[in-house]
Amino acid sequence: MYARQALRAATGLVRWAAVGVPTAPCPAHTTLYTCWRASSSSVSAAVSSVTPHPPSTSLQVFWKGGGSDVYPYLWLRDNCQCPNCFHSTAFARMIPLDHLHPNTSPKSVQVSETGVEVEWTDGHLASYPADWLHQRAFDTTRHTHQQCLYKLPKKLWGSELSQALPTASFPRIMADDAALLNFLTAVEQLGVVVVRGMREGVGEIERLTQRVGHLKVTHYGGDGGDNLLADAFHAASHLRQHQRQHYHMLTDTIVDFEDIGTQGSHQYHAISRRPMIQLDHDGSLDRISFNQMVRSSVFQVGVERATAWYNAMLAFRDLVCHPQYQIKYKLKAGEMLVFDNLRVLHGRLGYTSSEGARHLEGAYWAWDEVRSRRRVLSTKLGQS
Ligand SMILES: [Zn+2]
Repeated sequence: MYARQALRAATGLVRWAAVGVPTAPCPAHTTLYTCWRASSSSVSAAVSSVTPHPPSTSLQVFWKGGGSDVYPYLWLRDNCQCPNCFHSTAFARMIPLDHLHPNTSPKSVQVSETGVEVEWTDGHLASYPADWLHQRAFDTTRHTHQQCLYKLPKKLWGSELSQALPTASFPRIMADDAALLNFLTAVEQLGVVVVRGMREGVGEIERLTQRVGHLKVTHYGGDGGDNLLADAFHAASHLRQHQRQHYHMLTDTIVDFEDIGTQGSHQYHAISRRPMIQLDHDGSLDRISFNQMVRSSVFQVGVERATAWYNAMLAFRDLVCHPQYQIKYKLKAGEMLVFDNLRVLHGRLGYTSSEGARHLEGAYWAWDEVRSRRRVLSTKLGQS
């Protein structure tokens, strides 16, 4: 179920190759997102009124059914659900990060039939469905749905399990999605399942592996202009030295990154959960997760911390967007760009159509494998 997530978590290098074939729709952006809708049918919220919430960095929403929730302005602006800001079928945030400012506030807020309408001081009109808001309340005790989506609760067992060892039928897993889900649920909750009914001979494990998830990640077609690369480790080091509070806010706050789509016939829904700046056990920088498009609108922290986190994130954004930490490079035909995906932020600038059609291909390499290869070669060549 989390094959792709596991791959993502293990990935280190991305290569991009520019080749001369026509552009095609990105396979990751052609699917429908149904999970929230399917799982949220039990909730039906309606807004009765709204008011600014002291100290005027957030909005308090009162529900018709009683109670209220508070939403930071920065979070609301960042998560505008209009078609310009959010791609509802690719489930990706479209609003560029440079549209977000620490002093973001509404010019006016109105309650509508469906939820809340906000006109921001920059003139942008936004609307937020009541159910959507209600599901994302900044109440850390209420996110059980996202918690279950992320990881299923473990069921502990002892010797008694030998009397009730979970089993699954290989032919049924291969043919029936519900059987596959039961199997994967048992594997995640119990950690052990016996699969029965496999044919003799080789190839069955491969078939099951293919059925559970794809193993090779190669994606992102589309236009390619200049590559913009920023050393986010350098920017994070600057933050650590000069804006220590912001730095710790980003190292100590867990953020969800949610990636939903299809690749070939394989549908995926990956959630990874980590701070934007992740440290190694010795306090050194380990990885940066700074993806505006797939950062989840579900943010499981208190409302004050959410605003503080946004201010820290915007300070970090100002650093990584500073030309001091960036390079620009335009790939030529036949070239490939390899970079550390856990450290270097990669963006692509637009290109003009007079340059002809270009197509980009990307692949992830796992750091474990790359380092292993490096060690073996180093030994073989007598350099270790
Ligand atoms: Zn919008």
